[in-house]
Amino acid sequence: MGSTSIPCLWITFCLHLCCLMNTGKAQNAKEVILLDSKAQQTELEWISSPPGGWEEISGLDENYTPIRTYQVCQVMEPNQNNWLRTSWIEKGDAQRIFVELKFTLRDCNSLPGVVGTCKETFNLYYQETDSEVGRNIRENQYVKIDTIAADESFTQGDLGERKMKLNTEVRIIGPLSRRGFYLAFQDVGACIALVSVKVYYKKCWSIIENLATFPDTVTGSEFSSLVEVEGMCVSDAEEEADNAPKMHCSAEGEWLVPIGKCICKAGFHQKACGRGFYKSSSQDLQCSRCPAHSYNDREGLWRCDCEDGYYRAHSDPPSVACTRPPSAPQNLVYNINQTTVSLEWSPPADMGGRNDVTYRIMCRRCSWEPEECVPCGGNVGYSPQQAELVDTYVNVVDLLAHANYTFEVEAVNGVSDLSRTQRLFAAVSVATSQAAPSQVSEVIRERVQQRSVQLSWQEPEQPNGVITEYEIKYYEKVNQQQKTQYTQSSRSTSATVNNLKPSTAYVFQIRAFTTAGYGTYGPRLEITTKEEASGTSRTHAQAEMISVLLPRPDQLIVCSSASLPVRHCGYSKADQEGDEELYFQFKFPGTKTYIDPETYEDPNRAVHQFAKELDASCIKIERVIGAGEFGEVCSGRMKLPGKRDTSVAIKTLKVGYSEKQRRDFLCEASIMGQFDHPNVVHLEGVVTRGKPVMIVIEYMENGSLDAFLRKHDGQFTVIQLVGMLRGIAAGMRYLSDMGYVHRDLAARNILVNSNLVCKVSDFGLSRVIDDDPEAVYTTTGGKIPVRWTAMESIQYRKFTSASDVWSYGIVMWEVMSYGERPYWDMSNQDVIKAIEEGYRLPAPMDCPPGLHQLMLDCWQKDRADRPKFDQIVGILDKMIRNPNTLKTPLGTCTRPISPLLDQSTPDFTTFRSVGEWLEAIKMERYQDNFTAEGYSSLESVARMSIEDVMSLGITLVGHQKKIMSNIQTMRAQMLNLHGTGIQV
Ligand code: AMP
Repeated sequence: MGSTSIPCLWITFCLHLCCLMNTGKAQNAKEVILLDSKAQQTELEWISSPPGGWEEISGLDENYTPIRTYQVCQVMEPNQNNWLRTSWIEKGDAQRIFVELKFTLRDCNSLPGVVGTCKETFNLYYQETDSEVGRNIRENQYVKIDTIAADESFTQGDLGERKMKLNTEVRIIGPLSRRGFYLAFQDVGACIALVSVKVYYKKCWSIIENLATFPDTVTGSEFSSLVEVEGMCVSDAEEEADNAPKMHCSAEGEWLVPIGKCICKAGFHQKACGRGFYKSSSQDLQCSRCPAHSYNDREGLWRCDCEDGYYRAHSDPPSVACTRPPSAPQNLVYNINQTTVSLEWSPPADMGGRNDVTYRIMCRRCSWEPEECVPCGGNVGYSPQQAELVDTYVNVVDLLAHANYTFEVEAVNGVSDLSRTQRLFAAVSVATSQAAPSQVSEVIRERVQQRSVQLSWQEPEQPNGVITEYEIKYYEKVNQQQKTQYTQSSRSTSATVNNLKPSTAYVFQIRAFTTAGYGTYGPRLEITTKEEASGTSRTHAQAEMISVLLPRPDQLIVCSSASLPVRHCGYSKADQEGDEELYFQFKFPGTKTYIDPETYEDPNRAVHQFAKELDASCIKIERVIGAGEFGEVCSGRMKLPGKRDTSVAIKTLKVGYSEKQRRDFLCEASIMGQFDHPNVVHLEGVVTRGKPVMIVIEYMENGSLDAFLRKHDGQFTVIQLVGMLRGIAAGMRYLSDMGYVHRDLAARNILVNSNLVCKVSDFGLSRVIDDDPEAVYTTTGGKIPVRWTAMESIQYRKFTSASDVWSYGIVMWEVMSYGERPYWDMSNQDVIKAIEEGYRLPAPMDCPPGLHQLMLDCWQKDRADRPKFDQIVGILDKMIRNPNTLKTPLGTCTRPISPLLDQSTPDFTTFRSVGEWLEAIKMERYQDNFTAEGYSSLESVARMSIEDVMSLGITLVGHQKKIMSNIQTMRAQMLNLHGTGIQV
């Protein structure tokens, strides 16, 4: 950087140029800020009195920057007198203070019923003190500055809606004599939001004029006062005789009325800085070239202007380069732990030429439609903070469970707020995981009898979703050591536990269930049943038999001392669940059995046995939402006497139906009416005594799962997807416990409600499959949806719950691939061939390996080796509880080139021996154990079960699990490579 001129130059010939240094212009006025509420991101904590008046509220300014505001809106009550006092403001050198207020004010006409009480002004006061005083506001100590009215309250918008306008008012106070002051705002019944309060005073910025330098000067105390300032001649200049240089600093911070001057000493001449150069201070001997990204096209300037898009922060001296806002942060990643989202990012590629980059976070909560997002508000917490983050991470806590959020991370520097260009930020859309409900803490004993106890309770404080079920756990107090526990479920907040022993102390605990899983049990409640009056007592075993005979599921009494389920394909309870869970695994088979309506001679009797006949006048059809085999599917409302009206789906039977069609149509209702489970679509009733004949079902707002997932491709977290799968598995567990085989389980036959609860639907007998467009005729006769159907069902029409498990595996695949068609565009014949040869679908993109493993297990050739629905529910529950198990190494589960060869996991063939494999999984210490038991080849290891592993003498449960999970991976790879050669 060179210099070309100094104000006075040694000359060999005489030259005189006037000094072109800028004289005081308005832009030279310097504002010194004493308070700026907008700049403060933490709470302002001003004093508000009385309580219920002014309230501190987080808000966003027009650039979506978080700000703190104070609001009051007591417009209905007369005689309001609400005070708000700022923190103490030290005045420094200032004598004349500017107060700039930005606020919105509602016009009273827009508020109905407030005539006489509503005001449209507020009052501004100040109190001078030498130091901070107490927190009490003594009104008589305040001096009124002004009554502030809005220039614009609410104006009528273009579309007729009322719009809020931001008003800016500036008031000046002074002269001030004490060290500092408070400002106070008095509300007398208006509806105001105080958006920002800026307090500042003005200075005249130091300049050089007439070869004299004039220092920074604080303006005078009065509007009319001019502060006279004497100049100091620059080097090699001297005062003109009797004409000392003087300037006057105006109240607005402008230099006015130059008097006198300095002149170059003999032999020196005066020269201005040339174009492209500047000299900011008389102390500088040389003109300096304009710093980077600045320019000037005139001579004699004290600083250079910034190029377009570049700025100088208030604190930047003229010598530094003009800078610009940084680019967006890079590589924004997030991690969700229930209702906490951790964000991490890398610094922007372009820091804008500054080293004061910090980050700020914008959080918005969105509905499922992307357009509808609202700022998260003050209930959400940020750690370490929301703005001025120096580090490149933040934890956002206290989000709502089960909700969609967008987070924008913006890098800001000292000039960001000066820039009018579009904000650049990195953004992610995140859906919080489902948190399990909180405890059911208040349980009331409603009625205690000899053999029954009636309980009621409050919904947990934080349901974190829709509670679909409560589980009541109870046991005899004396039996506690034996842990013989019983469970019963209830869909409401009360239940009667029957078949208890008289005069016996029982302990009860209740927990709630949502799609996110079970909450924790509430406190133990001890109740002793009444003494027996006469007769003999029944045992639980008897109770179970009795309940088998009970026709209605809500009268179901679950009690048994059932042993742990038999292990299949490596799924033992001990393996799947923590030991502490074992006590709670006494799941009992449904005591009610599904009855095939075809066994009824008169199908009408079946319908009326299982479905409620509804009066057609209770049903209002609103619109058509789909097409069923027998007629249109509509949405509408149902209003039953004494009940709230509800949304329903209505399946109609088209006119001109045959008797067989009517029977087949109503058959679905006869089946559905037997089920009562939160994950099975619920039948409200039928209309058979009118036309059209209708089946009325609970309304599932999001329609069928396959279309829903395709519409929201990539928008859910793995936990949410697993939550959906868990629901479907729970519904299927219930159906299989009742002995019902679905035969057509597929994502298109699952319905989704507005809470993302998935419910199994589409029931029927063979006709269900007839109406499925995916079903094709096979060589074994009958129509089959090949891609969803187990091998044995295709080959010899063997349909069982185990074949439903196969279909469930395909549904898992559909869900994890957001509604992709299984086996893509392969023909049905090719699918059958590939499956027979042992090929299986690979993991969908970003699918956690554990889930793909579960799919592969559902597709075991031998149906006895497939997991049961009960086990599937247990595994998914465990995954939901331990989201770490669902983490996918990014990019590992991509769709392979050859779709049926799963290449997502490391190739087991890289190991040539059992020893190498053990070394790779860091279990080499057991090499001898394997050898001693004769496991010398990888193939023999791949056949091992958990018992086999345990029998090697490996006692550590963690090691057993690790080895077993690696064996399962190896087995899956072998299956894909060699077909079904390996049987376990
Ligand atoms: P279906 O005859 O059961 O296959 O129904 C045909 C279509 O109607 C389905 O694919 C859904 O889109 C819609 N539908 C059926 N039942 C319901 C329901 N309960 N709630 C909302 N939509 C439904």
